[in-house]
Amino acid sequence: MQTQYKYLYTATLCGTLLLTTLISGCSNPAKDNALAKPREIPSNMNRLSNQQKTEVEQLAIDKLNQINAKSILDNREFCGYIGMKADKTIAASSILGGEIESCEPSAPDDWILLASFHSHGAYTESLNSEYPSSDDILGDYYDRTVGYISTPGGRVWKVNGEKLTAAIICDEGCVTADKGYNRNTESIRPAVTYDYLRTLEYNLNPNN
Ligand SMILES: [Zn+2]
Repeated sequence: MQTQYKYLYTATLCGTLLLTTLISGCSNPAKDNALAKPREIPSNMNRLSNQQKTEVEQLAIDKLNQINAKSILDNREFCGYIGMKADKTIAASSILGGEIESCEPSAPDDWILLASFHSHGAYTESLNSEYPSSDDILGDYYDRTVGYISTPGGRVWKVNGEKLTAAIICDEGCVTADKGYNRNTESIRPAVTYDYLRTLEYNLNPNN
């Protein structure tokens, strides 16, 4: 998933603007991480009661249940937000369809964003689609949301944008899985950090 934060992200990681003179490139994940890792921003979820947090999480998982089969079939992401409306009720935005590795959710301007959710399309051995991406984590960081992500293997991840971490909250087969998903080839960590994902992505494609 990619949201508006990406412009700031790009500027921070790749040394555009004033940083150009300070940074020689953006291919070293350790250097990038040092630049990209921002201070903690409190999540909007901190305003909620435990009961409301449970409501948000259940709604997110329900939405992922709705979209994962179609996401696998179409091999593209679907996404949305969960937010608090002006009348203090919690609701999900319209579900939007994205591309194979991106989706830009949208919610009414007067909502307080609480959570994002998106799917990851069909299984492919060349992508780390069983994990959130580092961009996914930054998206929730800048939106002050938590993130819920379903994978081709049917896992559901919860991203803690405030802490720049993610953890599996429901393992493979939790939502509809891709019939082509090969669990024997997958060894997935149950919890990851932003730095870990950056390193994983760098190892997969050093040119990015
Ligand atoms: Zn994602």
